[in-house]
Amino acid sequence: MLITSLPNHTVCLMCAIGWFAKPTEPNTANNNVSSKNLREKFTQLPHLAGTEQNLKYAEQIKKEWQEFGLDSVEMVPYDVLLSYPNKSQPNYISIVDHLGNEVFNTSLAEPIPDGYENISDIVPPYSAFSAKGQPEGDLVYVNYGRTEDFFQLQREMGINVTGKIVIVRYGKIFRGNKVKNAMLAGAQGIIMFSDPADYWAADVQPYPDGWNLPGGGAQRGNVLNLNGAGDPLTPGYPAKEYTYRFGLEDGVGLPKIPVHPIGFHDLCRAVSPPSLYICISVLGESLSQSVCLRKVRMNIHTNNQVTRIYNVIGRIRGAQEPDRYVILGGHRDAWVFGGIDPMSGAAVVHEIVRSAGKLLSKGWRPRRTIIFASWDAEEFGLLGSTEWAEDNAKLLQERAVAYINADSSIEGMYTLRVDCTPSLHTLVYNITKQIASPEDGEEEVSLYESWHKKDNWTDDRDAPRISKLGSGSDFEAYFIRLGIAAGRARYTKNKKTERYSSYPVYHSVYETFEIVEKFYDPSFRRLWAVAQVRGGLIFQLADSPLLPLDANEYADSLRKYTQSIKQLAQRHQDKMEIYKVSFDSLLSAVQNFTVAARDFHERLKTHNREDSLQVRIVNDQLMYLERAFIDPLGLPGRPFYRHVIFAPSSHNKYAGESFPGIYDALFDIENSADPEKSWEEVKRQISIAAFTVHAAAMTLTPPA
Ligand code: GLU
Ligand code: ASP
Ligand code: CA
Ligand code: ZN
Ligand code: ZN
Repeated sequence: MLITSLPNHTVCLMCAIGWFAKPTEPNTANNNVSSKNLREKFTQLPHLAGTEQNLKYAEQIKKEWQEFGLDSVEMVPYDVLLSYPNKSQPNYISIVDHLGNEVFNTSLAEPIPDGYENISDIVPPYSAFSAKGQPEGDLVYVNYGRTEDFFQLQREMGINVTGKIVIVRYGKIFRGNKVKNAMLAGAQGIIMFSDPADYWAADVQPYPDGWNLPGGGAQRGNVLNLNGAGDPLTPGYPAKEYTYRFGLEDGVGLPKIPVHPIGFHDLCRAVSPPSLYICISVLGESLSQSVCLRKVRMNIHTNNQVTRIYNVIGRIRGAQEPDRYVILGGHRDAWVFGGIDPMSGAAVVHEIVRSAGKLLSKGWRPRRTIIFASWDAEEFGLLGSTEWAEDNAKLLQERAVAYINADSSIEGMYTLRVDCTPSLHTLVYNITKQIASPEDGEEEVSLYESWHKKDNWTDDRDAPRISKLGSGSDFEAYFIRLGIAAGRARYTKNKKTERYSSYPVYHSVYETFEIVEKFYDPSFRRLWAVAQVRGGLIFQLADSPLLPLDANEYADSLRKYTQSIKQLAQRHQDKMEIYKVSFDSLLSAVQNFTVAARDFHERLKTHNREDSLQVRIVNDQLMYLERAFIDPLGLPGRPFYRHVIFAPSSHNKYAGESFPGIYDALFDIENSADPEKSWEEVKRQISIAAFTVHAAAMTLTPPA
């Protein structure tokens, strides 16, 4: 059975308190707890970063974590740059006639859902960190605003957007990348809208009757291009009171043009007479052919403001290895109520802390130190988590074993989604084999089997799919800047049939507790399964005598990534010959790594586990393996993205790119103005990758 055959003592302790109870068994106490946390505590009031209410929630979390029995809980403040609409001068977009009169204005707020009418401080939809301004111009539609969309517009259609206002639909990529692309193309403003094609599931009603985005809803969100910097004014150093701050002109990643989001009602109302439609140059139709009588004016008055934020940091001191840290972190700040993002994740962290507290009261203590974090200002660019990483960088690089992220627990109702470093693959599989599927009719099925059936890895292997980490949530600084093994897990949608991005009500006022309770997870069993995965990872990483990290999996992934980047380069076989570009050094480094990993795990089989010093030696090799992929110089132009194997894609912060240095050097190389120089850069990046992989392999060989 799922429950009884668990080998590990920690897990048995966990089942003792109901962690591995089958969801079909009466488990109402636990389920009620989750739902109560979501409902009564943390989703009734808006709790935007930097507001009084978000501080109150922080204090409440601190108090409860203390009551649950953590050894210490502290509030850790930073003063970071946030961005809010001007309360006395609302943001909106108008269509203006030839006399400059505003003949149509977009709505100033979303219709408030039933039951929340009397709530104040609901921030209207806006693009955080937008530049101020009132640009006026013709409108050009650029699909999703991706790199390839701008290429098509400029190269194939010959449309120049200099001085224009571009309108793009949300979806496919992080919104900050859309804004960067628009700026580079010379636009003087950018509007982002939620297209039903991307934010409306078939046969589903709009909220509150279903989980689709109502026409009056719009997606908030920051539009920064931080590339891992954290607070825009204090890159590299924690944003304390005494910290030197750059002026706003020199802030990292701030857009230079106005940006604003709208819903599809505003778009439809605008395109019915008086017509905006004739001003939109849709892909496939050139602007010169459209008769443009009306222009668009953006009215944006959003202010940047240095504001105090608060992380809550709780600790359980490790019994044997207090100087080894396993971290569970997720954000608390929300755009409005945060019913899904982030509280469906924060509730899970809360329950894991409660469980850990119960175990402590029964005399248990983990081998390693566990750190729990409730991050602030994630929505403003991962600020709380990044500032704390900067503050504690020296300790973390010496002592952190792993970081598990706990943002939203659900973005769909279909199956599990896991993104993690390759060395965690095996642990994720082992843990999910011990957890029951939360789905109706799968009472005897494990989460692993259920997930495997729904999302097989196909080409690569017959196992459930695990993806690379990208970014867009708080693991970024830990994984990509500091080189700490990291992972995330949540319930997700069926990517094959559900085309919409994230989930329809993402970052709207309709992300309420009720949308979770009514539609996403009425029994709270999916949330519970996610809690078991995240909690299982933390408990195993903190308590297994031998660290459950698998270097062989890293070797497999490196081989796969090397093959695919080589194939990408070989599309230019002729140029590779001319410029003498070879992947031999990288292939041979990966071969060294494969052998070193295999031998390392072979040696472990006969390793003396009674000798604690010997165990510590191999554990250190496992812990520092991820660190070995860090290049202190960082990637070209992105000093805080220092992982040579993984980085957020330069074209989409949400997606992970493998061998990002080589990938970026190869990107669009056929259009390079100076091919020789570009191919030299490819060669340089291959050599950096080869050296780094080889150096990492060396860390796995016997120390002497
Ligand atoms: N999770 C937030 C979003 O997707 C912030 C992401 C980020 O700034 O990287 O809007
Ligand atoms: N929900 C996003 C993600 O984790 C992050 C966020 O918007 O907070 O993908
Ligand atoms: Ca900083
Ligand atoms: Zn989130
Ligand atoms: Zn969010």
